[in-house]
Amino acid sequence: MEIIFLGTGTSQGVPMIAQPEGVGSDMSNPKNWRMRTSIHVEMGSHHIQVDAAPEFRMQCIQNGIERVDTFILTHGHADHILGMDDLRRFCDLNGGEALPVYSSEEGLRRVEQIFPYAILDKPIVQGYPAFRLERMPQTLELPGGTVESVLLPHGNMDVLGLVFTEANTGKQCTYYTDCKEVGEEARFLAEGSDVVILDGLRQNPHPSHMSIGEASETAQSMGAPLSYITHMTFKVDHESTESALPENVHLAYDGLRVSW
Ligand SMILES: [Zn+2]
Ligand SMILES: [Zn+2]
Repeated sequence: MEIIFLGTGTSQGVPMIAQPEGVGSDMSNPKNWRMRTSIHVEMGSHHIQVDAAPEFRMQCIQNGIERVDTFILTHGHADHILGMDDLRRFCDLNGGEALPVYSSEEGLRRVEQIFPYAILDKPIVQGYPAFRLERMPQTLELPGGTVESVLLPHGNMDVLGLVFTEANTGKQCTYYTDCKEVGEEARFLAEGSDVVILDGLRQNPHPSHMSIGEASETAQSMGAPLSYITHMTFKVDHESTESALPENVHLAYDGLRVSW
């Protein structure tokens, strides 16, 4: 199984537009440059793209993403959905077929509102996008393994939390982005994961995201051998924040590949 962090930044990206000078992170460190958050998962040679940031095209080019078999949208916020038009290339590469798009009821509604021209069985013209919308089931069976889902609280909406289990190896990864907490059901589902990825926005608390401290504590109590924090603002400096974290909890960064 391989996880590629295509982006690890919060909704404004890092640095944000007109970022005040001398505030926040050391921008000479490339790990502090963060595109909007998404991951690409290769599970038993099946390629799953989770969310499409506004920078999705550049993220695919920079990270050599050449295949997407299944797309999962965690929720309909702009920083996770706005790159979906660029999935057109993968419809083309998949032989002009509609790409299966899984999400919650809320996520699917947002896809219909933003991309009404792409809700089709096949692209209208070669190179155009086409999405086959599917409600995310509790357990999604894919050729490479399963993806289990659970709803996580995120302000006034719920976000899909995802647990990937590779069929032929039993390797497991949990991806809980954009959430204020990880409840009992979500912890139960994540049990046994080799890698856990959690939302951690910034040092001070936020109403709809976990802080770095909350994410670190949650990671430790979940007890995975390896945990990563993602979705960070410009105030989270990679080196100084990482050095204060427990040994098995790390900050993710754009382009990080975790394979095992
Ligand atoms: Zn977000
Ligand atoms: Zn969000």
